[in-house]
Amino acid sequence: MLITICGGGNAAHTLAGLLASQRGVRVRMYLPYGDEAERWRDGMRRAGRLRVVGAPGEKFGLPERISADPAEVIPGSQAVMLALPAFAHEAMLRNIAGYLKRDVWLGAFPARGGFDLCVKEVLKEKTAGVSIFGLQTLPWACRIQEFGQQVRILGTKSCVDVAAQPAGMVGEICEFLVDVLGVPMAAVPEFLSLTLAGTGQIIHPGVMFGLFHDWDGEAYEQAPLFYQGIDDFTVGVLQRMSDEIQELRERLEANFPALDLFAVRPLEEWLLNAYAGTIEDAGSLKDCFVTNGSYAGLKAPVKPARGGWVPDFQARYLAEDLPYALLVTRGIAELAGIATPQIDEVILWGQERLGKTYLSAGKLQGADLHASHAPQRFGYVDIEELVGVYVREEAFEPD
Ligand code: NAD
Repeated sequence: MLITICGGGNAAHTLAGLLASQRGVRVRMYLPYGDEAERWRDGMRRAGRLRVVGAPGEKFGLPERISADPAEVIPGSQAVMLALPAFAHEAMLRNIAGYLKRDVWLGAFPARGGFDLCVKEVLKEKTAGVSIFGLQTLPWACRIQEFGQQVRILGTKSCVDVAAQPAGMVGEICEFLVDVLGVPMAAVPEFLSLTLAGTGQIIHPGVMFGLFHDWDGEAYEQAPLFYQGIDDFTVGVLQRMSDEIQELRERLEANFPALDLFAVRPLEEWLLNAYAGTIEDAGSLKDCFVTNGSYAGLKAPVKPARGGWVPDFQARYLAEDLPYALLVTRGIAELAGIATPQIDEVILWGQERLGKTYLSAGKLQGADLHASHAPQRFGYVDIEELVGVYVREEAFEPD
């Protein structure tokens, strides 16, 4: 299998090292961002190969080609994997679109919301024959230690949901990924489930709002705890956001019986499932956060200022999770005629912090909507048309 990885960050290093360590897998890197291709080649020259250290034991891999020119790496690739933040997906897809094989597997680690809609927008009629896939989340918490030389896996998720389009491809793609990456994965029926089920879209903007909605501008002596700082107010916000998404799920399932949105779970159920072994007290949603050992000590995003620390509102918890996750769900709710007052309050607060306008006069029609994956941005104007994208799909066959 010839795989090209797009991106040069933490996720790309991990993916490249693990895949290239596998017999029968050839890996190329497409690195158009800044001087990353040169830096990666330099790293390879120094280290000889890419080293992945941490949880699964050491792995070594050697990408066979590294380039900032898509013509040198994309043609002939059987799989192309985007391992970079969602805000860079569209630019990356535009760079590679003209070089893709007709039957390529084209996927994102992770997909966030609406990745499939973005691929269709960029590839247009060239989407025919392409298998699009996406992971719900990155399987690893990972950090580069030496660029182009070494990356560390800090932790691995117990299971990651994967969607594909055509839906009938999900079993084959999942099986391959589990085989080469060694991470348990679960197939979900279609991308709509992946978009609606992402809990990062609730937790990240919701907790930012809860922690900082009444921030008085004074610097903190130290960064507030992100998860352990969740109080009754914040947990109320999170619960209401989750409830609104469940209402949307129920409406969609009632109106479109062919949809199966079982993977779109309430927040508390998802937490209990994802962190079964590390939650000490599962008495309430708040307890699930504040007594979860996996979340212990994790801090809110801050930056140094005014002699202390102030919230970093440009951090990914808003800059990525708002336009490329929560806004996608909000857009689907708008098409379905479901009111989302709590989600709207979080979006309105977050977009102001980001200096953007997505939601305006109760609709997703703001000037910055073009830099998002909301369905409105791709021209969807009614829910039948959007859901039609998914229910027209080949039948889903679970493993
Ligand atoms: P990163 O910050 O390390 O990745 C940055 C890379 O993205 C850059 O090196 C560059 O190659 C590429 N990039 C950035 N802006 C670009 C642009 N404008 N044009 C082209 N390329 C650009 O991010 P990461 O840690 O690898 O995370 C990737 C994704 O995985 C993100 O969505 C992140 O939220 C998610 N994630 C990461 C972790 C983790 O532990 N690293 C954990 C969970 C989820």
